[in-house]
Amino acid sequence: MVNAIDAGWHAHVTRLILELAWTGYYGFTRQLIEQIGLSMAVAEAEQGALPVVPWLKQDDEGPYLEGHRCGNCGAVYLGERDNCSSCGARSGISPEKLTTRGTLYSYSIVHRSFPGIEVPYVSAIVDLEGGGTIKGNLIDVEPDPAKLVFDMPVEVVFRDALGRKDNEGNAYVSYFFKPI
Ligand SMILES: [Zn+2]
Repeated sequence: MVNAIDAGWHAHVTRLILELAWTGYYGFTRQLIEQIGLSMAVAEAEQGALPVVPWLKQDDEGPYLEGHRCGNCGAVYLGERDNCSSCGARSGISPEKLTTRGTLYSYSIVHRSFPGIEVPYVSAIVDLEGGGTIKGNLIDVEPDPAKLVFDMPVEVVFRDALGRKDNEGNAYVSYFFKPI
């Protein structure tokens, strides 16, 4: 037979055990939620990497370079234009997706740069097929003039901006040129 004191004590201990279990469970769950939340935030940051320049756009097929073509003379510009500096047209300039194929127009081998930037690297100017001339880094090639031939075919590739992040932790996607 359980007397009143024992019954009260028993109820107290049971409640204490339940509370401890709940606290432990809650703590574990909260930790799990935080971990999942963190992984999701990392995944989102990678997925939603910001473009390094305004003319680097993104659609369902991935990143691409956007040019603006003059409907009158066919000149292609990076970034938005209201008028054409080639023929003087003041309208008929529309955006278009630029190709990822081009040729090496010119380059510089950079031996000195900002602190933290790995040197030497190749800064290149590339003429894109169909129009558009852009400057960017040529990668996957030795920074050696013997390996860099004018007019050599290159392709535009999109990659993380060398792992760099801004003060808010945002990752960036950049474009590079690569020999074909
Ligand atoms: Zn024009």
